[in-house]
Amino acid sequence: MGVDARIPALGRRCYLRDRPGRECLFSINGPQAVLPLLSHLRLRPSRDARPLPGMRRGADGSEGECMRRRAFILLTGLSLLLCVATCGLWLRSYWYQDDVGRHTADRAMWVLLSWRGDLVASHDTQVGLPRREPFWATYSGPVNDYTFGSVRWSLLGFAIRTSTGTGASENPFTFRTDYFLVPYWFPAALTIILPARQLRILIRRAKRRHSGTCLRCGYDLRATPGRCPECGTIPGPTGNA
Ligand SMILES: [Zn+2]
Repeated sequence: MGVDARIPALGRRCYLRDRPGRECLFSINGPQAVLPLLSHLRLRPSRDARPLPGMRRGADGSEGECMRRRAFILLTGLSLLLCVATCGLWLRSYWYQDDVGRHTADRAMWVLLSWRGDLVASHDTQVGLPRREPFWATYSGPVNDYTFGSVRWSLLGFAIRTSTGTGASENPFTFRTDYFLVPYWFPAALTIILPARQLRILIRRAKRRHSGTCLRCGYDLRATPGRCPECGTIPGPTGNA
């Protein structure tokens, strides 16, 4: 349990931990000096019952946090790259289509297609035709007109469509193709989440740096520029935490 204290004699907030070995933030007269003032302590309200900010959880706590932060930055960078690539393909899909398909020996065909604002995955089966050598096929070029069969289900641009029919090449055959359409806005929205969050953090830090408040918690540091009394962050020489 954390205890939040306001000590009239010092006129400054400080934190106490009720478990031994924890860091104490007050240091002006040493922790002992605070003991006579314990009658002034008030309990942190239960609605605020969260870990005290800036308190280390153990010897490897800060290292773990550093690793997590690095992994998070790496993920954010990767997500940004994916988002840029997705938006590029999205825009391109209105003029150029790109597809890659796998044609199997038993006359099935799997195709992934970028087409007019959608990513389309399709599965096609043909009955009545002889087996063949499997092969890959790709196409990149001006966008073609497709209808993708009739709609079986659709929501917010997502759709399942099916096309069935008969044809004749070497032999007459029947076919069925199922299409799964995913609108490009969906992967774009997914991949923008982490970069947008990071941008928000950077803007908030810039504002705090400008206003002279703690970069970590936003506490006003004008009276205590050496260390944030709220979360214990020590500002760097350039104001970086
Ligand atoms: Zn702070």
